[in-house]
Amino acid sequence: MIVQKFGGTSVKSVARIRNVAGLVKRAAEQAPVVVVVSAMGDTTDYLVKLAGQAAVAPHGRELDALLATGEQISTALLAMTLTDLGARAVSLTGSQLGITTESIHTAARIVDIRTERINRYLEEGFIVVAAGFQGMNEKGDITTLGRGGSDTTAVALAAALGASVCDIYTDVSGVYTADPNLVPTAKLLKEISYEEMLEMARVGAQVLHPRAVELARKHHLRVRVRNTFDPEHGGTTLTGADEMELSRTVSGVTVDRDQATLTILKVPDTPGVAGEVFGSLASRRVGVDMIIQAFHRDRSVNDISFTIRRSDLPSAREVLEEAACRLGAEGVLADEDAAKVSIIGAALMDQPETAARMFAVLGQAGINIKMISTSEIRISCIVSERDSNRAVRIIHDLFHLDDEQA
Ligand code: ADP
Ligand code: ASP
Ligand code: MG
Repeated sequence: MIVQKFGGTSVKSVARIRNVAGLVKRAAEQAPVVVVVSAMGDTTDYLVKLAGQAAVAPHGRELDALLATGEQISTALLAMTLTDLGARAVSLTGSQLGITTESIHTAARIVDIRTERINRYLEEGFIVVAAGFQGMNEKGDITTLGRGGSDTTAVALAAALGASVCDIYTDVSGVYTADPNLVPTAKLLKEISYEEMLEMARVGAQVLHPRAVELARKHHLRVRVRNTFDPEHGGTTLTGADEMELSRTVSGVTVDRDQATLTILKVPDTPGVAGEVFGSLASRRVGVDMIIQAFHRDRSVNDISFTIRRSDLPSAREVLEEAACRLGAEGVLADEDAAKVSIIGAALMDQPETAARMFAVLGQAGINIKMISTSEIRISCIVSERDSNRAVRIIHDLFHLDDEQA
C-alpha cells in the first residue's frame, strides 16, 4: 500500500482538489491508498487570525478545535470528488483515524495509531482520505501537531500501516539546495540523507516538517517529495546516510525568519545560574537554540544571549525578566530583528575553511553577523532580517550549489 500527502497549495480550490483526485484515483488502481490532505490554501492562517480576533490568548484546547476544521473541509471535499469520479472513498478525522497524541495542545506529538478502522476500509476497497495535522489526546480532545504537521501525519500513517512509500506532494518538484522561490538557480537534489534533510527542516526548509523526517529516519521509510503540478517528475528521495556521506560538502542553504534573540545582562558568574535561566524557559516549553555566554572584564558577571522562536518572545521575555530579578542581573534585552541563515553539509567540522569562507563572504557584502553556532553538519549565523535573503543567495553562489549538484 502507499501513502500520499497533498499540501495546502495542492488543494487550494475545488478545481485543484479534482486534479488531486485524478492522481489519487490513478494510484489507487495500482495499490491500496491512504491520502493525507492539508487545509485548503491559507485556511489555517485564516483560522489563526480569527482566533486572535476572538481572544488575546486563545485557549489551546479551543484553538485546536478550530484549526482542525481546516483539514476536515479538504478531506470531505476530496472524498466527495473521488466518489464523483467513480472511486470508493471515505474521509476520516484524526480521532477517526485512531491517532492518539500527547495531551499538550497546538504542538502535540503522535504517541499511537490504532490502524484497525483504516485497514478495514482498505480491505473493503476504499481510498482512505485522512485529515492531516490532527489527533486526539487521552481525554478525547482534539489536538494538532504544530504548523506544517500534515507531513508528520503522512509519515506516521505510512510507518504504522507498513506502506512501501510515502509520497509528499507539494508545489515544488522536490528538495532543492535552497528555497527555489528565493533562489531561482537552486538545484534539485534527487537524493538527500535523512540526517541532512532533518537538519535542513529544523533550520527553515519548510518543504518537510522536521518530525516527519525524524519518523521516516526511525522507520527507514521511503519518502519522496514530489510536485502535484508535475507528477511525472521523480522528485527527491530520502535515503540512508551511508551512500551520501562523501558525495558533497555543502548540500543546502536555509533561512528561518521566525527568530528572536534575548540577552540577560550582567548576571552573576556563579554555579547554577545557567540551570536556573534555561530551566525557567524550559518550564514554559520555550526551545532555545544558539547560546553565547560572554564574560565582563572583572569576570564577576556574564551576559548570556540566546535565540528563540519569535512567536515565543512574549512568554520567554516574561520568565527571563523574573529570573533576572531573582538572580540580581542588570536586565533583559530583546531583539526581534533576527533571521537564521544556515548551511547544511557532511563533516563540516573537519573543514574549518568552509565556515571561514561563509563568514568572509557575508562580511564582504556588508552583512553583520550577530551570532554564530556550528555543529558537525550545520553552520548557522544570525543576521538582520532585511539581510537574510541576500545572505542566502550569496552563500548559495559561494558554494556553487547551482552548478555542482545533479
Ligand atoms: P505544502 O503546503 O505542500 O506542505 P509548504 O509551503 O509547507 O508546502 O512547503 C513547500 C515550500 O517549501 C515551497 O513552496 C518552497 O518555497 C519552500 N522551501 C523552502 N526551502 C526549500 C527547499 N530547500 N527545497 C524545496 N522547497 C523549499
Ligand atoms: N494546515 C496546517 C498548516 O497550515 C498543517 C499543514 O499544512 O501541514 O500548518
Ligand atoms: Mg508543509
